[in-house]
Amino acid sequence: MKHNALVVANWKLNPIGFDEAKNLLTELKKKLKKVNSTTIVVTPPFLFISDFSKSLKGGEIKLGAQDVFYEEIGPFTGEISAGQLVGFGVSHVIVGHSERRALGETDEQVNKKIQAIIKRRMTPIVCIGEKNRDEQGTFFNDIEAQIKGLAKGLLAKDIVKVVIAYEPIWAIGTGKTATVEDVKEMQLFIVSTLTKLYDRKTAEKVTLLYGGSVKASIAKELYEQGGMSGFLVGGASLNANEFSGIVNATIS
Ligand code: PEP
Repeated sequence: MKHNALVVANWKLNPIGFDEAKNLLTELKKKLKKVNSTTIVVTPPFLFISDFSKSLKGGEIKLGAQDVFYEEIGPFTGEISAGQLVGFGVSHVIVGHSERRALGETDEQVNKKIQAIIKRRMTPIVCIGEKNRDEQGTFFNDIEAQIKGLAKGLLAKDIVKVVIAYEPIWAIGTGKTATVEDVKEMQLFIVSTLTKLYDRKTAEKVTLLYGGSVKASIAKELYEQGGMSGFLVGGASLNANEFSGIVNATIS
């Protein structure tokens, strides 16, 4: 089942400074007017969220965050809570990105973060993906384990609020986009795994995205044939023309 399209810009640790960030946002706002049928989310570095929350207020682009901590308050140096993010108008939060998992984030922490985000009525965008692909398809076991980990303790009414972004690690930032066939196959696999954990109707309500070297030139084909409801975009989201091209590919 296709959902309303969702395209998320993951700016990561970019751009270099606040002025550049503001310029990029201004360009995006100019290019992405009246795109009602697709939800667009920009996730800048935390430091820019306060300013962006004012400039995006009431507009078409929604504000997201790249991570969150699962506790609400207390002695957790350097962390930011879901309650603090929601106070700045953040609507979507990425968790479990492979770049954070590489720094030690576990499935258990990802699960706790999802629960904290849902409690604050924001949308978690949970990244899953295999490091490598093997001929035998054993990487599907890793994907299944990640889905079980993120869904642990979540009732059907909660899992349908989660966005799952399939981001094969070998495709992130490498220029090697997954093929339409690979993406479609993974969409079916994720739905069937969720069906085993819940039921078909619930599984089909979960919004699925693809991420990994998405470019404007291939976005339409991927969107129309890959079975996913949109994209999580890294590198190409730092270029207003590329990113708006990707958003436009989701508009029929
Ligand atoms: C990402 O890091 O979420 C991502 C998809 O990056 P890129 O588009 O640069 O591969």
